[in-house]
Amino acid sequence: KLSPRLQAVANLVPKGSRMADIGSDHAYLPAALLQAGQIDFAVVGEVAEGPLQNAEHTVKSQGLTDQVVCRLADGLAAIEASDAVDTVVIAGMGGLLIEKILTAGVPAAKFSRLILQPNTDQAAVRAWLVGHHYKISHEEIVQEGRHRYEMLVAEPGEEQLTAAQITFGPHLLKDQDPVFLTKWQLEYERINGVLDRLAAAGQEASDKYQKLQAQAKQIQEEVF
Ligand code: SAM
Repeated sequence: KLSPRLQAVANLVPKGSRMADIGSDHAYLPAALLQAGQIDFAVVGEVAEGPLQNAEHTVKSQGLTDQVVCRLADGLAAIEASDAVDTVVIAGMGGLLIEKILTAGVPAAKFSRLILQPNTDQAAVRAWLVGHHYKISHEEIVQEGRHRYEMLVAEPGEEQLTAAQITFGPHLLKDQDPVFLTKWQLEYERINGVLDRLAAAGQEASDKYQKLQAQAKQIQEEVF
């Protein structure tokens, strides 16, 4: 059974897609999708030996070797043209790493669906998508334990997003999910705590203070 986070990612993979899971580690996601009959082929990409072995173990022990190709590769280099991959999943990594993987690989190949789950720096991923002819068709936020995870689905297309939409997510901002509101409430409180400490130290004129104050204002104006 998948964790709530990975299940939420799995739910975004269309039936019958040819998927690549980049940075798959245990290959739990493709294995669950294959077992559920949701997909019938997957490429598993891993840059590190240990996680690749984890993936190979899952694939063998679940009898999925005919349907999964595991490759040791950096990012999208795991995907070969003959795989005819249409859906790329990159989940469970920092947003800046996801951005780096996309930058290194996407100009060579266009995919009809990117499913991205950045643990941090979601805004950087959104900005990358908008700048590289992808539009964000769907977003979700899911709580697992103490953590909140965002997922973005992108498809080829053009769109312009406002600064607030890049920061908070165009769909998330509109949907106002309680998990989303909690995330930004906590961030707002965290920033205000730092502002209080800086003010107590007489740092109101510092760049850091000004920047955080602007962030708090943006949250208050755009989210609440
Ligand atoms: N995708 C799974 C998930 O969401 O549960 C596993 C996430 S795991 C925290 C991140 C994995 O990404 C690690 O196994 C790491 O080796 C792999 N990774 C990091 N950089 C990578 C890259 N450039 N190309 C492929 N895999 C990478």
